[in-house]
Amino acid sequence: MKRYRRCFLIMALIGCLLLTMHLDGSVKQNKPALAFNGVRGKTVVIDPGHGGRDLGCKAGKQVEKDINLKVAQNLAKMLKLEGAEVKLTRNGDYEPGRWFFKRKNELDARIAQAAKYEADIYVSLHVNASSKNSKAGAVVFHNDANYSAGDLAQNIQRELRRIPAMVKRTSHARNYYVLTHLDIPAVVVEMGYLSNTRDFKQLQNSRYQKEIAHAIGTGINNYFNRANPVKTAGDLPAQKEKYVGQAGENKPGAFFLPKNPSKLLMLSEEVEAGDESFEDKSLAEKARLSLKKLAEGPRNNSELSSCIPRGVNIQDVQVLGTLARVDLKIDNVNLDSIGSEEEWIALSSIAYTLFELPQLHSVKLTVNGAEVRTLARHMDISKPLDRNKMSLTRVAGGLMEGKKAKVAIVIDDFGSSDRHGVKEMMQIDRPLTFAVMPNLENTTAESKQAAQRGYEVIVHLPLQPLKGKASWLGPGAITSNMTPVEIREQAIKDFNQVPYATGFNNHTGSLITSREDLITPVLEAAKDRGFMVLDSKTSEGSKMLEIAQNMGIACTQRDVFLDDIKNVAKIKKQLNLLAEKALAQGSAVGIGHVGNGGDKTARAIKEMIPVMEARGIEFVYLSELVH
Ligand SMILES: [Zn+2]
Repeated sequence: MKRYRRCFLIMALIGCLLLTMHLDGSVKQNKPALAFNGVRGKTVVIDPGHGGRDLGCKAGKQVEKDINLKVAQNLAKMLKLEGAEVKLTRNGDYEPGRWFFKRKNELDARIAQAAKYEADIYVSLHVNASSKNSKAGAVVFHNDANYSAGDLAQNIQRELRRIPAMVKRTSHARNYYVLTHLDIPAVVVEMGYLSNTRDFKQLQNSRYQKEIAHAIGTGINNYFNRANPVKTAGDLPAQKEKYVGQAGENKPGAFFLPKNPSKLLMLSEEVEAGDESFEDKSLAEKARLSLKKLAEGPRNNSELSSCIPRGVNIQDVQVLGTLARVDLKIDNVNLDSIGSEEEWIALSSIAYTLFELPQLHSVKLTVNGAEVRTLARHMDISKPLDRNKMSLTRVAGGLMEGKKAKVAIVIDDFGSSDRHGVKEMMQIDRPLTFAVMPNLENTTAESKQAAQRGYEVIVHLPLQPLKGKASWLGPGAITSNMTPVEIREQAIKDFNQVPYATGFNNHTGSLITSREDLITPVLEAAKDRGFMVLDSKTSEGSKMLEIAQNMGIACTQRDVFLDDIKNVAKIKKQLNLLAEKALAQGSAVGIGHVGNGGDKTARAIKEMIPVMEARGIEFVYLSELVH
């Protein structure tokens, strides 16, 4: 009896050990983290997008419809094994709703399955494409059916971002036709971008397809388990309609796409009105002039590109009260391959260019005078686009997706032997960006762990300051006695040290960042790699942001240092300041630290998350705020 008990104790101990190992992230990620009992008895409709003659987007021989089907079949298998009732809207290479003489609209045929089988949730699978080949990563979009829809999306997004090689993104509401027409929680998972070299390679890999299916399945299960209920859009007041864009209300402009398309950018040039002033024109005339500018594309700014796909023309604009009716003419082009992103950008830019005129509240789109469901089989234009229902926020210089003010928190100094706060930071269940120093004891391990746990990773590059000890810099630092060639080579070496990094920020560096000749070679190395850049702004004299901008690198700068004073109350005060700035500007970036006092920073952040979210703040990755 006694021996039996001891044996049990040892087994329990081993169990605990295994559990801690898992918490440390040192156990392989693709094993199920939880018992799959959440989905038991639930009905899940899985919708592999496109099919048959409709290929979806494509790159080379690879077509979207095939990837969608493979992941869908993997996901179906997994959920069925766990006792879920699973229905596929298509289980082969065909367009749903088509047989012999009958022909139903393909999208309507898909969503009809949800009602037919009394589905609990609806999961549509797609692959995206973008004219910007830097865009990558899986994103989950949800409907506004009820509070649960955002929760489902966040649960799936959380698991997707735990795939180490996955570019980290956050979920949003979007007006997909299959989402707006369902009143159960429904999501579209855009699993990556065929236009991005790395995503393109990975999406063809059957192991990666299984990993994605597993992540989606785990997210669905967690959602039903209510293991990690996520407070999300819908239950909180949206940010007040605030205008911080470059153009004023009497100076409307058209929206164009910047190099880094997290935002639609407002061109600050006025709409040209000919001889009379713009203000003297009628509302309909103003609307026509604004859309003309949108269609013509950016003229004096090579950093911007048009939001309207080739072959789409604005044919006619009518204004009826607060509603604008816009008729499009589609030239002889097949829009099916443009992907949902380009489609969404086209619609949003038309709508928001018109919403620059405060009298207009909704926009109805038609094609060749006829009502249509979508422009390219994704986004719903069967109903007018409503100013208050579209999920976009105005920020300085443009529009961002989602209705709330955005905060990105970057945590510096990972990698060192001083691990204060590392464990605590790695347990915060929000999008955070971790800056890892190269060439240190824990550089590789912590970068990998961060990527596996769903955090974005950047390099924390040591640059020489004006004053201070060389020992603060650590190994691999960039110093002023190096030649430009040496600086560039050192930067490349340092970047290579940090796995999964997608950008860099500076560690100290008041000297290097103030000198164009010294910082330029670093930025060149970053540009070659497609890295984004965060200017930590360790001194007022930093020229990093301006130079990076001129080089066309996606970049931004720090707004608030969180923990100059290592005291929880003081750090919370700084977090409040960060929230204020985000609410005023639309977005803001804060920097905190691990190492000495890092546990206090982690505690302050953890305790402030609900407070900040209640004020209408959404936490995002740094990559979502660079432009
Ligand atoms: Zn698609």
